[in-house]
Amino acid sequence: MEARAEFVGTSAGTGAGDALLLSDIQGGPYRGWQIDLAFGLLDRLGPGGLPLDYERVPAEAAQRMPLLRWIRDPQSLESVAMYREYQFDWPERVCIDAVLDAERLGAVVRNYTEARIVSRDTDGWSLEIAHADVPAPAAAELPVRVQAKVVLNMAGIWIDDVNRAALPRARQRILGTKGCHIVVKLPADCANIGIATLNSKLEPFYCIPYRGYHFFGPTETVYEGDKDRIRVTAEERAWLVGEANRLLPQLRLAESDVLMTWAGVRPLTYDENVPFGNRSRVIHDLASDGLPGVYAMTAGPVMTHRSAGRELTGVISRRIPPSRPRSNPDYTPTRFPDEQDSAPLLPDASVKLSDLRHAVRAQHARTLMDALYRRVGLGWRCAFTPYELTRAADVIGGELGWSEARKQQEIQAFQAEAALLFDPRPPLRPLD
Ligand SMILES: Cc1cc2nc3c(=O)[nH]c(=O)nc-3n(C[C@H](O)[C@H](O)[C@H](O)COP(=O)(O)OP(=O)(O)OC[C@H]3O[C@@H](n4cnc5c(N)ncnc54)[C@H](O)[C@@H]3O)c2cc1C
Repeated sequence: MEARAEFVGTSAGTGAGDALLLSDIQGGPYRGWQIDLAFGLLDRLGPGGLPLDYERVPAEAAQRMPLLRWIRDPQSLESVAMYREYQFDWPERVCIDAVLDAERLGAVVRNYTEARIVSRDTDGWSLEIAHADVPAPAAAELPVRVQAKVVLNMAGIWIDDVNRAALPRARQRILGTKGCHIVVKLPADCANIGIATLNSKLEPFYCIPYRGYHFFGPTETVYEGDKDRIRVTAEERAWLVGEANRLLPQLRLAESDVLMTWAGVRPLTYDENVPFGNRSRVIHDLASDGLPGVYAMTAGPVMTHRSAGRELTGVISRRIPPSRPRSNPDYTPTRFPDEQDSAPLLPDASVKLSDLRHAVRAQHARTLMDALYRRVGLGWRCAFTPYELTRAADVIGGELGWSEARKQQEIQAFQAEAALLFDPRPPLRPLD
């Protein structure tokens, strides 16, 4: 019988990598042999050293698997293809590790600093740098100006804003498409299993295990709203619950089961022939726009950031000869110092107060959001109690010289931002 594959089940994890499943269903858009072929190619063309553990499981056995036991039309299931999936722990950590390594190699790093391309003369571009987090009286001296022969505009969905602030006629380079997710808690036996499939609009749709929870998503819509307030709307949340129930009707997911949501806008390459943006990474030479020596990168995903870095280094070194001996990046993840005597922030002891202190001292954290989500990643699996936030604010504020009043302001700012960005619910707690 000719089988068609529609469902892909995943078992994802952090770091080490877990298995991922893929199932054939009659009437699905892909045939079973196509999936076998795709994984054969992936195995041969991939970097090696990371096992895919690809195998096809007959329908009968597949229907007894966690998650798959809830899929719609189980009678039309032909088989399930399993493979091992790999996952970034959380993308902000990848970003900060790259920043810290750049600092090790000699870069000057400024967090919360806005750059503006101002003017050009024979020495290159003059940029205005405005630091949002500098205490008075230093703030009175800002903004400062720096000279640059080459400017890389890496501002993601803000790329066009940055270009047009310098030259209003600069062409559109970015198309932002919004992707929303919902987080739920599934039974323990689903812990390492997920599904990758297509939604009712035949777009990619996933149920991916993450830090003891699962997230469903994404959505795919063109975004032209406020770039500083990207969040999942009630309508988008309901649509995602509907799609989750379409995929797994027996799960009977209710909106009240949603523990957290998040959304992002992908900085895709604008292409008038591709309505939802071109996903090809492009480095734009903006000389043709009237900005010689300025380059912008669109559609650069996290997963290929290393090759993006190499490509951009090439762009610069063709214009400016290297001034220092060649040195290579170190991709080893940064570790927090193991301070045995430091108290844990939460009962599960996964994060210590010393980690928060280190995030401020050595990793450019300036807010509770920086420390709790972006440096230690705890917010991705935890809604904090007021007591926990106060303890975190004491440590971070102790490093940054916050007064009691400022600590309270920072806690309120954290709660407001978390509510806006993630809508976390109290049942979202760290696992034992
Ligand atoms: C829903 C969703 C799912 C995704 N899934 C994946 C995935 O599975 N795998 C993957 O690899 N990628 C994924 N991506 C893509 C990835 O997250 C983005 O492509 C990536 O973050 C873009 O990185 P960037 O550095 O180009 O832009 P950004 O991450 O947006 O960084 C741009 C930075 O520039 C700063 N900035 C703006 N203006 C200025 C200025 N004037 N001065 C100084 N700084 C400024 C901004 O504050 C921001 O920090 C996903 C994205 C979304 C939205």
